[in-house]
Amino acid sequence: MPELPEVETYRRYFEETSLNQPIADVLVEDTKLLTTDYDILSQKLKNKSFIGTKRVGKNLFAQLDAPFWLHFHFGMTGDLAYFRDNEDKPRFARIIFRFANGFKLGFLCPRKFERIGIIENVDEYLKSKKINKDALEISFDELNDILSHRKAPIKSVLLDQSTVAGIGNWIVDEVLFQARVHPEKLSFQLSDNKKMAIFESMRFVIQTAIDKQANYDEFPTDFLIHARGWGSTQMAQLIGKCPNCNEKVQIIKVGGRTTFLCPSQQKL
Ligand SMILES: [Zn+2]
Repeated sequence: MPELPEVETYRRYFEETSLNQPIADVLVEDTKLLTTDYDILSQKLKNKSFIGTKRVGKNLFAQLDAPFWLHFHFGMTGDLAYFRDNEDKPRFARIIFRFANGFKLGFLCPRKFERIGIIENVDEYLKSKKINKDALEISFDELNDILSHRKAPIKSVLLDQSTVAGIGNWIVDEVLFQARVHPEKLSFQLSDNKKMAIFESMRFVIQTAIDKQANYDEFPTDFLIHARGWGSTQMAQLIGKCPNCNEKVQIIKVGGRTTFLCPSQQKL
């Protein structure tokens, strides 16, 4: 599932390929993928250009040279691909922006959980969806204030996009592992030191994932993510084990979500 690091990679790709070229038209294979009527969307985008982007958590907003934005929601498997010739058209490019210069941007929607739509005011949209600041934008004081007032397990609080935007399931496990905090510890009971450790780990884990373009195999070997067994076979010796103390990882459910932790280093 595309999380903050993947969406940041897509944002950079979008900026490198698709800015400042007039849009000739937009082809949409299935209008279920739109949150704005096709006629309105198509009319609004025609002859306009994308001029910039903004990412908040997993949401990508593309700014037009007009008073509105296009919101991309990547669903479970969304991706972007820039191409020119129709023979290079990627499979699942169910929405295609055709630029006046002959190039095209495909929005790949393999499972049709992806969405685009026109947004007039990004801040109001985020507020209406209860999405707080992005994990790389929030300050320690802002995060500290929220964590100090929440009585739920810290894992559930961090997954809640109204706390901070862009923290998904593996990221929160990695952050709490690196901060040596048990995922079921109640948020308001955390010490100031632990809250600072969470804040710093959050920034470090996300920045590392962005730098590695979300290629899990290239993450440092002391990351807990390798215990999940997502990497290549070279990483097989790390599956199911704590990369620090080699102890078997514990797998529990917190708020219904599968949770990995090191039982000797993350204590309640
Ligand atoms: Zn350990």
